[in-house]
Amino acid sequence: MEQEELFGGGACFTDAIEALRSWTVEQTAGFLGRIDADDPMPMHEIAGHFADPTIAEEPAGLAAYVQYLERDVLPHVSHLASPGYFGHMTSGLPAFMPELARLVTALNQNVMKAETSRALTFLERQMIGAIHRELFGGSRDFYDRWLQDPAASLGFFTSGGTMANISALRLARERALPGQGSLPKRLAQTGLSGVAVIGSELLHYSFRKGTDLLGMELLEVPAGDDGRVRARDVRDMVHEAQRQGLRVAAIIGAGGTTDAGSVDPLRQLAAVANECGAHFHVDAAWGGGLILAGEGARILDGIGCADTVTIDGHKQFMLPIGAGMLFIRDPQAARAVAVHAPYAVREDSIDLGRFTIEGTRAAAALYLHAGLTILGRSGYRRLLDDSLDRARYFSGRLKAHPRFELALDPVMNIVLYRLRPSALCGRNLTPEENRAVNRFNTILQKRQRDTGRGFVSRTTRRVRRWSDEPSVLLRAVMLNPRTRHQDIDALIEEQAALAGTIEREGGF
Ligand SMILES: *Cc1c(COP(=O)(O)O)cnc(C)c1O
Repeated sequence: MEQEELFGGGACFTDAIEALRSWTVEQTAGFLGRIDADDPMPMHEIAGHFADPTIAEEPAGLAAYVQYLERDVLPHVSHLASPGYFGHMTSGLPAFMPELARLVTALNQNVMKAETSRALTFLERQMIGAIHRELFGGSRDFYDRWLQDPAASLGFFTSGGTMANISALRLARERALPGQGSLPKRLAQTGLSGVAVIGSELLHYSFRKGTDLLGMELLEVPAGDDGRVRARDVRDMVHEAQRQGLRVAAIIGAGGTTDAGSVDPLRQLAAVANECGAHFHVDAAWGGGLILAGEGARILDGIGCADTVTIDGHKQFMLPIGAGMLFIRDPQAARAVAVHAPYAVREDSIDLGRFTIEGTRAAAALYLHAGLTILGRSGYRRLLDDSLDRARYFSGRLKAHPRFELALDPVMNIVLYRLRPSALCGRNLTPEENRAVNRFNTILQKRQRDTGRGFVSRTTRRVRRWSDEPSVLLRAVMLNPRTRHQDIDALIEEQAALAGTIEREGGF
């Protein structure tokens, strides 16, 4: 084969590519039409399809490859866009997004460096500024001054919320203990025993990764049944850390915990951070998108007091995966983490790579720009308000049903609950009985996943009014705009029916 033909995927490549394109469109429509929440093949069997580590010597060509995808891959992907899929924070996309993703991939711009992205460098800054303004409410003059100033940064896109949180921790660490050299060396110079980060026990596990990578200690504060920490408990933890000779670099507030969407008292935590001179970061990876909902300002009250905020565009904003964002209130704060390289990101260059941990990055800002432009503020408001309504409807239905119990009233669009076997309804449980209810809910969730049409995820947390031991909970995420009330009713009925079956099988 000629080089060019090879690169094009095989013989007569314009026809083959055309065929591939219409096949992809067809497959996407099929995917979006699935109504059951998952394919029935167990995971270990799926793994069996991917056991061969050899690389084919000869080019296979497009047609054979399409056959492979149809046979081994597509039947076994998750039906995230199904109206019965309530499981996780990833949903189907607005219909125009896959096309724009095709464009972004075709252009293959790298926004780390302006020479490999040009306009998209400025578009990223513009979009970061647009959400920054929603969060922090700066004046038009402020954005005229800072938005496109290459020496400043209002934030950047990241691969996801994990990387945005780690970037925030890095910034907090450099502000708390500035200087050159390794952290142990800097600590030795100051006589401190370490650097601490303080937040709820319900913080996302990315903070464990981040503090681990950055040589900091994560101190966790217990949360109440409502999923919120108390500011005075955080203040006590600050004093305890200080007694141990730790410098408190950051206080973290959850702007929607991953398990239930509960929001810490952000204003009060900001005050605690202020008292001890710590950086205040809000992890709104999940909840931050709600800033565009009608009730967003109420739900996320105090988010504007943060020094930095994480938001995942691939959650509530419904963008393709890879659209994490970190927002930095003070445009000059990011200088503390600027890094340069003579061959790539030069000092005082306009390259976004100066401030990011990641290097090469795709132009995910285009997705946010497209979403905000094509759907508009009012379009997002409707989608998000509907999703909050669905959570209210869902929790209302659960409350009306004697077998179901809510772990807490939903603050956002996640519902956390469990079912009781009928023999254990309507009374307080002994620790042993609570463990039986845990087993019951575990079996139920797996049974529905493997045999049912609906799908919810499962988590474990302490609900003190039920038991001092952890309780297993079902977790329904109400993100998908295709989900209607009748899908919620069907999910609840399916769970009640499965619960009956499991009881009849005995043991409860
Ligand atoms: C999802 C989530 C994260 C992590 O985001 P990724 O995009 O998965 O890396 C962090 N914090 C919270 C609260 C989240 O919900």
